[in-house]
Amino acid sequence: MPLPEFLKDTDLDLALAAKLLRGGEIVALPTETVYGLAADALNAEAVAKIFAAKGRPLIDPLIVHVADLESVEKLAGAPPMLSRLAEAFWPGPLTVVLEKKEIVPGLVTAGLPTVAVRMPAHPVIRKVLWKMGGVLAAPSANPFGYISPTEARHVRDSLGEKAPWIVDGGPCLHGLESTILHLADSAGPRLLRPGPVSREQLEAVLGCPVLAGGAKEKADGEAQTAPGMLTKHYSPRAAVVLREAGAPPRLEGKFSAKEIAVVWQRRPAEKTPGAEDFWLSEDGDPATAARNVFALLRRLDGAGFAELQVELAEERGVGVALNDRLRRAAARA
Ligand code: AMP
Ligand code: MG
Repeated sequence: MPLPEFLKDTDLDLALAAKLLRGGEIVALPTETVYGLAADALNAEAVAKIFAAKGRPLIDPLIVHVADLESVEKLAGAPPMLSRLAEAFWPGPLTVVLEKKEIVPGLVTAGLPTVAVRMPAHPVIRKVLWKMGGVLAAPSANPFGYISPTEARHVRDSLGEKAPWIVDGGPCLHGLESTILHLADSAGPRLLRPGPVSREQLEAVLGCPVLAGGAKEKADGEAQTAPGMLTKHYSPRAAVVLREAGAPPRLEGKFSAKEIAVVWQRRPAEKTPGAEDFWLSEDGDPATAARNVFALLRRLDGAGFAELQVELAEERGVGVALNDRLRRAAARA
């Protein structure tokens, strides 16, 4: 079979995408975070195709994407806190975990009594949601555990024929997966995954503390509170070695300098002798670095470097989420 053609952001192509989704097919769509592999969230057979294409374990629940607040109310119980968050951050890169209603298939939530919901901002997925008149389960459009896709060609490169329909909406604005906030926890709101919306921003809007971190890995086979929290994730094949912000690279290791890609948060003042330098932004802006990180890791992985030596960001704002993904990419198991 030939590799998939890209659909474009045209009325005709998005109407086709919506029709395919209504008919139970899977379609890769751009969002402002990363590209998602979407299916009708209320059609368990369609959702099963996502798990199959990604090789994703069934214990890993999916995020449901909606066009409006009425759709949220069909899927889940909406606590009072949600309206303030929605006003401040939706449409946008914030996912909330709510008590699910009967209508949501257990496959979507890995059997959990809660469902993760997000109203995305990218015009392509919004138009497709309106055209199909439904809700879309859409995890990142990559093989399970590999680097998330931030461009249409990343989806094709890593899923090939498993994603026969891909809409090309250009590179993603944020380049990191959404922030996940648990709102169905009696102890109060809890940050399950850092993302483009920072904990400080959430606390400012909610006017109360946001608890840190979700449950860590659980015993095999048990549903995860946030499987995005698996320690090893977002992983290139090359070894990823991290260094603290501002620290120099270390070239005396297992590999020769020319097998090492030295990655900086900002363009370095001097070349690293013997090795090749790459940078995530010109000036150290963490939002730019976040937007570029997955594409750069993919490029370097494909270029055959044995080791990627990556400088961590300053641990604040979106730098927290960026460092979270880098640490997972570096985890060996
Ligand atoms: P992905 O779209 O591949 O980044 O994965 C979706 C993320 O949403 C996963 O990491 C899940 O942990 C998280 N998620 C989905 N549903 C739930 C839920 N009911 N409770 C907690 N986390 C969830
Ligand atoms: Mg993912």
